[in-house]
Amino acid sequence: MLRELRPFQDAVLAWYRAHRRALPWRGETDPYRILLSEVLLQQTRVEQAIPYYHRFLEAFPTLQALAEAPEEAVLKAWEGAGYYARARNLKRLAEATPHGLPRTYRELLALPGVGPYTAAAVASIAFGEPVAAVDGNVRRVLARLFAVPEPRPAWLRETAQALLAREAAGEWNQALMELGATVCTPRAPRCAACPAARWCRGRATPERYPAPKPRTARSVPAAALVLAGRAGYVLERRDGKSLGGLWGFPLAEGEAALERLQARYGVRAARRVGTVRHAFTHKKLTVAVWYARTAQAGEDPHARPLSKLDRKILALLERLPEPPAL
Ligand code: SF4
Repeated sequence: MLRELRPFQDAVLAWYRAHRRALPWRGETDPYRILLSEVLLQQTRVEQAIPYYHRFLEAFPTLQALAEAPEEAVLKAWEGAGYYARARNLKRLAEATPHGLPRTYRELLALPGVGPYTAAAVASIAFGEPVAAVDGNVRRVLARLFAVPEPRPAWLRETAQALLAREAAGEWNQALMELGATVCTPRAPRCAACPAARWCRGRATPERYPAPKPRTARSVPAAALVLAGRAGYVLERRDGKSLGGLWGFPLAEGEAALERLQARYGVRAARRVGTVRHAFTHKKLTVAVWYARTAQAGEDPHARPLSKLDRKILALLERLPEPPAL
């Protein structure tokens, strides 16, 4: 571990107090708001997360309001933020504990959708519990500080816990995350401006730590069938872990995707109107968008919570100069 732990902690905390970004949840004491910011920030960049943070709190100012809201309204408020399992889990969590969050790491961890990172962040920031929170930023800072190319989860947990400034745990966790987000960045870290530089073993070659993970996203062809009726489009309710509860255009992946969609809806002729690309965590979809008319009424897609992919398809349709001829 580090020699001179106290001076290291003091240097990082002093830097944080002087340089932290002004964010709407900084200084927040309401545990629900802290939880919401942490959940949003897990997979969304700060600048993107801010409007969702405000929008979500305006719609559901308290855990109880969230518990009582229909799931579809919750997904609508989350629309565009991506990774919708987060919104569904927040709703389930609110239903499980509508009158207030529990105060300890252990109890928080037992709530639906709360993992070690979120439990540690809320327990430390809202309740001052001395438990280290390790997110991607902290992982990178620790890997560089100790020049470890492949930091294992157990090592990360133990190291983060050993470095923790216990009397200011919430502030400390935020300081390390902020350091990773603004100074010890994945590319071109600003070591000359870093309060931890004196202690950093990876400083000569920071890009080596942690070693980059191989990319694994597969490319998958897909087709979307836009069925236009007199009142709007035919929409399907999505299921599955990432998009469950959202709505979208009929979509199929893989070989003969269009043929399968046509058979499902009894459509003979469809016209290709464009292509939409969308990357999920594990796959990249290239979606051929086809258009056809239907005797079904259809519905207004703006009235439903749509996934990001489906909003791209809708934007493509809205850019067409006129309805395609068939
Ligand atoms: S000195 Fe450089 S590599 Fe080390 S923690 Fe600071 S910014 Fe990261």
